[in-house]
Amino acid sequence: MKDFSLFDQTVEAFRCLPGVGSKTAQRMLLHLLERDRSRGEILVRLLGESLEKMKNCALCRNISEIDLCEICRDERRDKNTLCIVESPADVIAIEQASAYKGLYFVLGGTLSPIEGRGGDEIGVPDLIKRCQKDISEVIVAVSSTVEGEATSFFLFESLKHSTVHISRIAQGVPRGGELELVDGLTLSHAFAGRQKLE
Ligand SMILES: [Zn+2]
Repeated sequence: MKDFSLFDQTVEAFRCLPGVGSKTAQRMLLHLLERDRSRGEILVRLLGESLEKMKNCALCRNISEIDLCEICRDERRDKNTLCIVESPADVIAIEQASAYKGLYFVLGGTLSPIEGRGGDEIGVPDLIKRCQKDISEVIVAVSSTVEGEATSFFLFESLKHSTVHISRIAQGVPRGGELELVDGLTLSHAFAGRQKLE
């Protein structure tokens, strides 16, 4: 078996990042080795600390350094409205668009039978429990891909016997578009034009 050099192993490690192939990985590593060792060290330190300390918020499952994330701890937020998203990246996108002042629930992606993700895997039981307390409105803000549509339908079916009012953000978010890639204005309009699911 071939012994991989430290260089090769590091290039291979970089490739765990989305969109990074071997050429890009090589370029990144060479850049750090040849031009920016000190910032490379900062990167390694912060990455190590992030991996060690960042966890999921106990209430909304967003990424957080402490048990309850900043949004869940914020007294000024509307505690009765819950926006359901696919990932922490969507929370960042919605927060930057400033269209929304309620709380969140972060699913573990969309339903995907092929990848073995069912309702339990994406956290629907936790969501149902979450909705039994203080929540009066749920806004589904998952992407409009085939998996996203199936997920919305599943969420509606799971929550329809509860007392919460369920709506889905309006079109305007491009089909197949991920929320994190949608601009702020479009996202604001999508929230304002949300439609009741029935
Ligand atoms: Zn939280």
